[in-house]
Amino acid sequence: MSNIKIHVLHCGKMRLDVTFLGIEKSRNPLAYAGLFRSAKHQIWLPLSAYLIEHHKGLVLIDTGWHKAVRTQRTQHLGWLYSTFATLELPPNHAIDEQLSARGLRPADIDHVVLSHLHLDHVSGVEQVREAKNIWVSDLELQDTQTHPFYYRPTLWADVPLKTFSFHVSQYGAEKLAFDLFEDDSLVLVNTPGHTRGLVTALIQNNDKCVVLCSDVAYSKAGIEQQVLPVLRVDNAQAKRSLEWVKQISEQKNCIAVLPNHDPAILPHTIIL
Ligand SMILES: [Zn+2]
Repeated sequence: MSNIKIHVLHCGKMRLDVTFLGIEKSRNPLAYAGLFRSAKHQIWLPLSAYLIEHHKGLVLIDTGWHKAVRTQRTQHLGWLYSTFATLELPPNHAIDEQLSARGLRPADIDHVVLSHLHLDHVSGVEQVREAKNIWVSDLELQDTQTHPFYYRPTLWADVPLKTFSFHVSQYGAEKLAFDLFEDDSLVLVNTPGHTRGLVTALIQNNDKCVVLCSDVAYSKAGIEQQVLPVLRVDNAQAKRSLEWVKQISEQKNCIAVLPNHDPAILPHTIIL
């Protein structure tokens, strides 16, 4: 079978307290929000996106920051987020800028998949609105009504989102997934807990697999040590999803497991 290439891109970054990763502990319960903590505890976390060259089409997973965060941050992200979050989108790092550097236009992308609709994953989606299909799970879109505090619908208001439903599957702790090409090569597995409709992309080819686990955990160490993400809508689901990701990442044929915000994972290309 021809190869699948996964290009790991960084589309901006955010600065957060190191305890946000859950590995280094503090006795201050609000440390992860950076409250009453000095700047020396802060680190930059990347916002990853994944450009996948698949024999059935070009797929983009997540979109990082929109260029608007450079000049109109409050208008784009809202007062609360732009006041309390420290973030940056370096020159040429926006998703459309990175596609253009590779000779691609947004219209060349067959499928954009949003792992979930939190600001740091969906901010840049408007820049690729001309992609042929832009997907989010119906569960995730519904959850923006249940937990409106975590979402900013204006970010996708002008984007023709399509929703998919998860089906009964052999994958994931919940046994729910959407098989994008209906051949097991790119399966969007429901790994809820951080959000209800959260997707982990499982890519399988030539007896190898790669796991793009979004915010099921914030780092590889977080997967190994089973540290749950700070934001959760369901603790039990978050725990089960993380256990499943750990289990699949320990399989011999799993060549990479990539949480979205791990500062140790630099832009690179994986071939399977
Ligand atoms: Zn995130």
